[in-house]
Amino acid sequence: MTSGATTRPLERDVVWPVSAQNSGHAHGHRPRTEFTDKRLVPAVLSHQASELAIKPTENICYSDLVGYSEPLGGRGAVVAVIGGGASGALTTIYLLRAAAAARIPLRIALIDRHGQHGLGQAYATVNPAHLLNSPADRMSAVAGDPGHLARWAAANGIRPDDGFLSRADFGRYLGELLADAERRAAPTATVTRITCDVVGLTGNGLHRPLRLHLAADGRLDADVAVLATGNRTPAAPCPVPASPRYVGDPWLPGALDGVADGSAVVVLGTGLTMLDVAISLTGAHPETVVHAVSRHALLPREHRCPSDRAVQPPIPSAPDGGPVDLAGLIRHVRVAAAQAADGWQDVVDALRPDIPGLWQRLSPADKRRFLGHVARYWEVHRHRMPPATARRIDQLRSAGRLSVLPGRLVAVSETPTGLCVRIEQGGRVVEVAAGWLINATGPAPDVTATTDPLLRGLLDAGLARPDPLRLGIEADARGALLTASGTPSDRIFTLGPPLRGQLYETTAIPEIRDQAAALAGRLLAACRAPVAPLAAPGMEGSAA
Ligand SMILES: Cc1cc2nc3c(=O)[nH]c(=O)nc-3n(C[C@H](O)[C@H](O)[C@H](O)COP(=O)(O)OP(=O)(O)OC[C@H]3O[C@@H](n4cnc5c(N)ncnc54)[C@H](O)[C@@H]3O)c2cc1C
Repeated sequence: MTSGATTRPLERDVVWPVSAQNSGHAHGHRPRTEFTDKRLVPAVLSHQASELAIKPTENICYSDLVGYSEPLGGRGAVVAVIGGGASGALTTIYLLRAAAAARIPLRIALIDRHGQHGLGQAYATVNPAHLLNSPADRMSAVAGDPGHLARWAAANGIRPDDGFLSRADFGRYLGELLADAERRAAPTATVTRITCDVVGLTGNGLHRPLRLHLAADGRLDADVAVLATGNRTPAAPCPVPASPRYVGDPWLPGALDGVADGSAVVVLGTGLTMLDVAISLTGAHPETVVHAVSRHALLPREHRCPSDRAVQPPIPSAPDGGPVDLAGLIRHVRVAAAQAADGWQDVVDALRPDIPGLWQRLSPADKRRFLGHVARYWEVHRHRMPPATARRIDQLRSAGRLSVLPGRLVAVSETPTGLCVRIEQGGRVVEVAAGWLINATGPAPDVTATTDPLLRGLLDAGLARPDPLRLGIEADARGALLTASGTPSDRIFTLGPPLRGQLYETTAIPEIRDQAAALAGRLLAACRAPVAPLAAPGMEGSAA
């Protein structure tokens, strides 16, 4: 955050710092300082050629701040992209490209509560041992150009480890793509990065149909909004003490900073996040020992070099779009895996693009059956670890610094030296003395129990509805949020992890990239559509 002579006297009054980096810096113009709502106290502004820092003293009309980011005389609809991770960044990139190509003026507010624009949960890590879980040739952010990431890495002198890049490098790649898209789209379309929590989304903005309610009583009026909010935080499987020694979400910025103090750590979950946490913590302190616990103690399988042989996805024959039966599907996959010349990995990978379609053709009962009995086996085969990660994990296990235990957390209590973690294993309870307990169990399973104010508000107002499995929310085939009555919104859209219940395979880059590319045109069209009141049918009045 910049500071200047004009900001100092007022900094005493800062309630909650909010920063926005101005992407219109190339133009070096000074911001306009008109505040349309006289009740609002102007933010403390300091403006340099490359940065706009905003510190609110009371309320801020963020609509005006979005206005600041554009060249003088700028105009156009405002799209609020809520969440600055890969979903938000890719949406912004494709939207910039589409607006520039069609010469449609547009202002995009890219909002992230942690200031992790272009990085999000997955790519904000700076640990070089945190690798992508897919080879570089499957992680291109450019639809239709699978070699794009590998070429970018080669041009930047980055050599993948057995074909796998670090997640930090991928974050840099996304950031550069975004910056490039901004340069090319200016001055027609611009982006303002805002660091702030969006705590509500309602109709009836002052100047535009949507109003985003921001922490510290800020607000931003927009024509269209995109929920690119990623995965929900994990839920504790049993009551846990309100202690800093319980880390409820290892991916929050700084969450693991104090953990590597040499005391034992219990990690709940044995998936890819656990592997990253174990690598980080054992690397940060030579004494740290990690005990990873999950019901079945299944670890992700290891990647191997993909073969060049084309494999047909093992989909049971069924009338086009007709129902698919889970038992038959599993049989097909097993037979194909057993017969695959180069290993089951090719079969799993070949099936991946068909997962959303297959998922939608399973009956509700089969979907539940899959989640209850099959998913954990599918996940360890589908989400595999890179060879370098597998080598490191083997070393840690051989050295006794990582143990993987079957069991279920049943209780946690504080002790004078840390925590007593009770784990049920086959009917008996064992106690583990630990300095720390880390929840790496993945997104909380029931969206209707969310306490996130934005999601809670949308669900309560009927502007969003949970999918029948409650894994996330529902949208139509092109990303428009479904209201409580099932009507597609013409103003609010989503992509990526929130659609897990509907598509199942929707959390990784290839799927998010394709969804973002498809969403861009629809967002532009929505910006140009006549304004209709925002309300869930049958719930008018509750939304505004
Ligand atoms: C550790 C990890 C590693 C992964 N590795 C890979 C990989 O190698 N390959 C792959 O394809 N996929 C990987 N994934 C899957 C990953 O989900 C996607 O690749 C992608 O990063 C998801 O991006 P997202 O933007 O949807 O979510 P996120 O990265 O979670 O970003 C969402 C952002 O929105 C912000 N936000 C949420 N709510 C609000 C609000 N109300 N107001 C303001 N901001 C808000 C959050 O703070 C967050 O920064 C990984 C996931 C994780 C967690």
